[in-house]
Amino acid sequence: MLQKTKYLLFSLYLGMLLTFSSCDRNPQMNNGKPNIVCTTGMIGDALKHLVKDSANVISLMGPGVDPHLYKATHGDIDRLARADVIFYNGLHLEGKMGEVLHKLERTRPVVAVAKSIPENALLSVEDTEVHDPHIWFDLMLWDQAVAESAIALREIYPDWTDMINANEQAYRQEIQVLHQEVKRQIATIPQKQRVMITAHDAFGYFGKAYDIEVRGLQGISTLSEFGLRGRVELVNYIIDKGIKAIFVESSVSPKAIESVVEACQQKGHDLKIGGSLYSDAMGAPGTAEGTYLGMVRANVHTIVNALK
Ligand SMILES: [Zn+2]
Repeated sequence: MLQKTKYLLFSLYLGMLLTFSSCDRNPQMNNGKPNIVCTTGMIGDALKHLVKDSANVISLMGPGVDPHLYKATHGDIDRLARADVIFYNGLHLEGKMGEVLHKLERTRPVVAVAKSIPENALLSVEDTEVHDPHIWFDLMLWDQAVAESAIALREIYPDWTDMINANEQAYRQEIQVLHQEVKRQIATIPQKQRVMITAHDAFGYFGKAYDIEVRGLQGISTLSEFGLRGRVELVNYIIDKGIKAIFVESSVSPKAIESVVEACQQKGHDLKIGGSLYSDAMGAPGTAEGTYLGMVRANVHTIVNALK
């Protein structure tokens, strides 16, 4: 289908939904409470902590979902159309949803949680003006994103101010405590073994905040290709440094990482997969890893176990 026709049909569909919003596939959204729709699970988790059961909080991207490649489904468009307020990460994390979010902004508040993070705290992608969107892996940056979400909620729902204040304080306290704990844990890995290699560049902020060198096979977005030259260079680097383990990610195909392990083994270097990290999506709902704090704890446990 021609790109233009596709775009027209999509606009028409979005327009219809914004006008009628009659589909009823989300009974949870019809209980009289405000609907807060979030893109990633991490944002949804933060919003749930802030509003508890005063609103319906819906996250569009579930476990194992890659936000860089994610396109809004028809079901998502329906949920977004019925949202009273929308929260997204920003910094181009949701690269393929930009147009939809921009359209929805005309009819309801659409909040980028990364908005208030000062530019000098953001990492840039080498030789570009693009910023790294993976702010949730520096817990103090995510603390600011939670604060930004709370500010937006108080503006939109002034009656909730006291409730939001109390919930915000409690949740941010937990984040700040975990920040210190992550620092302590990563510091137990001997300095020269403190190198973490992952499928894509999701851990730049983590590395900076917790003093561990990080390298991703792919760039900041999973859209970029990993070339043969890069792989040869990385294999040599791993062998030179005597690195014991590298990591796969729950939301990215393990193939590229497996090929690096194979190449190292062929050269006689015993490299292992140190486990699977939660990078851009949380674990299954109902498990500890299905929460933001739990996913961070699980990652730190995996990293320390594999590298120490
Ligand atoms: Zn990512």
